[in-house]
Amino acid sequence: MTNTISREIQLVSRPKGMPTADNFTIAQTELKPLQEGQVLVRNLYISVDPYMRGRMNEGKSYVPPFKLGKALEGGAVGEVIESRAQELKPGDVVTSQYGWREYFIAAPKDLHQVNREIQPLSVYLGVLGITGMTAWVGLNLVEVKAGDVIFVSGAAGAVGNVAGQLAKLRGCHVIGSAGSGSKVKFLLEECGFDRAFDYKVGPVLEQLNRAAPDGIDVYFDNVGGETLEAALSALRVHGRIIACGGISGYNEEKPQPGPSNLFNMVTKRLTMKGLIVRDWLDRQSEFEQEVGGYFQAGKLKNKETVVVGIEGAVGAFIGLFEGKNVGKMVVKLD
Ligand code: NAP
Repeated sequence: MTNTISREIQLVSRPKGMPTADNFTIAQTELKPLQEGQVLVRNLYISVDPYMRGRMNEGKSYVPPFKLGKALEGGAVGEVIESRAQELKPGDVVTSQYGWREYFIAAPKDLHQVNREIQPLSVYLGVLGITGMTAWVGLNLVEVKAGDVIFVSGAAGAVGNVAGQLAKLRGCHVIGSAGSGSKVKFLLEECGFDRAFDYKVGPVLEQLNRAAPDGIDVYFDNVGGETLEAALSALRVHGRIIACGGISGYNEEKPQPGPSNLFNMVTKRLTMKGLIVRDWLDRQSEFEQEVGGYFQAGKLKNKETVVVGIEGAVGAFIGLFEGKNVGKMVVKLD
C-alpha cells in the first residue's frame, strides 16, 4: 500500500506587524505507515483563529510559539479513513489540534470523537466547538444573568455572535459592536441583539452611550483598545468585564498603552476576569449538553464564513484582521 501524501501550511518566518503570504508556505509531506493503536485522519475543516497570531511571535506565552518549518497547529474536524485502533473505525468523525494539514496520524487519546449526524460538521469548530465554549465559559465566569445589560465587542465574529445569542437566551439585554453596516444588520436581524452599532463610523463611547443610556452591567471584550476604554466608562457600579481577547493589538509591534480611564475599576468597584478556554476542558461535556441542546432545538445559530481549499487558509487568516468573516472562519478541505 502506498503512503499518504499530505499538504500542510507551514510558518517560514515570523511576521512583523500584519502577517503576509510570504510568512507561510504550503509543503508536502509523506506520512509513515500506520502503527498498531493509530488512526489516519483526513481533515474536513480547519479552524482559523486570531490567537494563532500570538503563536507566530517568538517568546514565552500561555502556549508555545509555532515552530518555523512545521505545520501550524490548531483546531480541525476530520474523518477517520483508516484505523489500527479499537476505539475508532473508518467513518468516525473527530476533532483534533493537529492543525493546518490535510491528513495526519494520531492515537485515539489525542482525538475527541463527535456525533457525525450533526451537520454541517464545521459546527464542531463553531458553536459546538472551542468557539462556542469560549462564549459559554465567558458568560459563566462573571455569572451573566437575566436582566443584565451586556455589551459584546467583535460581536459579528465567531465568539462574539455566540456570546450575544447565549446572553439573549439567559434573558439579557444585548448590545454589540462590529465593523460594518451589514454586520450590524446580521446582529439585529439574525442573532436577536437588541442594539448594535458600527464602531468604524464614530467614537465607540458616543455610540455605546446612545445604545445604553443607563450604562452596562457586563462587557465581553474581544478587541481591547478604544472599545475597552469606552466600556470602562459605560459600566455601572459593580460591573463585570470578561477579558477574552484584544484583537485590536495583535499586529502591533509594541505593547499598546492601557486604557486611560482604568481608575474606573476602583471608583465603580469593577471586576475583570481573564479567560483561557483550554483551562475549562473538564467542563466540556456540560457545555456540549447545554449548548448542543440549544443548537439542536434551533435556538442557536451557527454562522460561518467558509473558504475552500487549504491554499486559501493563509488568506482566510489575514482576513480575520480585515474583518472579512461573519461568524466562524473555517477552511473546507476539498
Ligand atoms: P473573530 O471575531 O471571528 O474574527 C476576528 C474579527 O475581529 C474580525 O472579523 C473583525 O471584525 C474583528 N477585528 C479585526 N481587527 C479588529 C480591530 N483592530 N478592532 C476591532 N475589531 C477587529 O475571532 P474569534 O475567534 O471569535 O475571536 C474573538 C476574540 O476572542 C479574539 O480576540 C480571540 O483572540 C479571542 N479568543 C479568546 C479565547 C480565550 O480562550 N481567551 C478563545 C477564542 C478566542 P469587525 O469587522 O467587527 O472588525
